[in-house]
Amino acid sequence: MSLLITNARIASATSPTLTETDVFLSDGIIRKIGKGLTVPDGTRVIDACGRILLPGMFDAHVHLREPGFEAKETIATGAEAAINGGITGLVMMPNTKPAIDSATVVGQVLDIAKRTARIPVYTSGCVTKDRHGKEMAGIDGMRALGVRMLTDDGDTTGDPAVLMRAMQYATEFGMFFASHCEVPELAGPRALNEGAMSYRLGIKGSPACAEEIIIDRDIRLAHATGAHIHIQHVSSKLGMETIRWWKQRGDVRVTAEVAPHHLLFSDEDIGDYDTHYKMNPPLRTRADNEALLQGLIDGTFDLIATDHAPHTPFEKSQDFVSAPNGITGLDTALVSLHHYFVASGKFGWDLIVKRFSAEPRRLMGLPAVSIEEGQPVDLILFDPDKETTFSKEFMKSKSQNTPFLDQTLKGSVELVVLGESVLLDRA
Ligand SMILES: [Zn+2]
Repeated sequence: MSLLITNARIASATSPTLTETDVFLSDGIIRKIGKGLTVPDGTRVIDACGRILLPGMFDAHVHLREPGFEAKETIATGAEAAINGGITGLVMMPNTKPAIDSATVVGQVLDIAKRTARIPVYTSGCVTKDRHGKEMAGIDGMRALGVRMLTDDGDTTGDPAVLMRAMQYATEFGMFFASHCEVPELAGPRALNEGAMSYRLGIKGSPACAEEIIIDRDIRLAHATGAHIHIQHVSSKLGMETIRWWKQRGDVRVTAEVAPHHLLFSDEDIGDYDTHYKMNPPLRTRADNEALLQGLIDGTFDLIATDHAPHTPFEKSQDFVSAPNGITGLDTALVSLHHYFVASGKFGWDLIVKRFSAEPRRLMGLPAVSIEEGQPVDLILFDPDKETTFSKEFMKSKSQNTPFLDQTLKGSVELVVLGESVLLDRA
């Protein structure tokens, strides 16, 4: 397969300026970049005038629901949703059924991914058996199969002594820990942020301190053991400031992520008990949105991750307290970041490439992908002037529990090419 993309504006992690040029790909390699290239006969030519060429995105926080909850999502449908959104690699969370807590389950999951997914799918492994927070999981066996990230995501690792032991054990093998931060006794039924909105709706809220306490606890454990701790889906201003404070000290290996929904929405959006705004950690306030955006821009957050959490319409149509937590994100993340932030000048494409492509790959020990001569092909073409309507038919996830359902946003993923394969073609 050979392809010439002309007049594309190339985005990179290092510069906000887009360079307009032509790019020639063949046999999975970026062969030449420049104007007036001579290419072999039979080469397909795409005139990308006005469109942006950028490295494939990488999502380090995804719930794919297989094994155990295939009515919500499978590895195959989740991977297709990722491609639809311009994401060319992802990391599964281990809260499946059975939980991904041993070499046996890791082996099965990776085998399904190899057979059914068109992009690389990596998996994390549990810190504790069945995510119960009590006994260490089969860490060594999982490591032998390539697992690097350990997490009990969905819940905090309950017993800090077990987490500390796991840190002491696994760190020397190059593994790291990802923390879902929540004191369950404080979070209660986890419906929504405790504050003006929870009082108005008459539902017991989950205070931000339930999250902030564990952010600090787990960084302290990493500080004490020399482990690398990655803080997942931070939702509060003080949580972000806690991470910033620890990073400024410079004596602990801490990274952190923020999800698009925590940048974009607040508890006010819940309106009339809309379960498409229910997730864990919950949406907090407009002031938190603002602070998290600053944290993303100043690098307190290393990366953007979706926390893609599919649920069936039946589950999400329950009352606000009973409905499960989470929204989908793979199909929508890149377009929504463009619509709300890039198009309005809040940040540039360089931030997107850095925080949603390069840094999540680095977290996983993978090389960053870039649009440079000699590099393997892993790229997307994005049209900033076209619109995307997130209809049920458009989205490839098995579930459509997203606030963006049937909304039209500015931007469109036009082309996804990985290696020798064109995975998506709207060009
Ligand atoms: Zn979580």
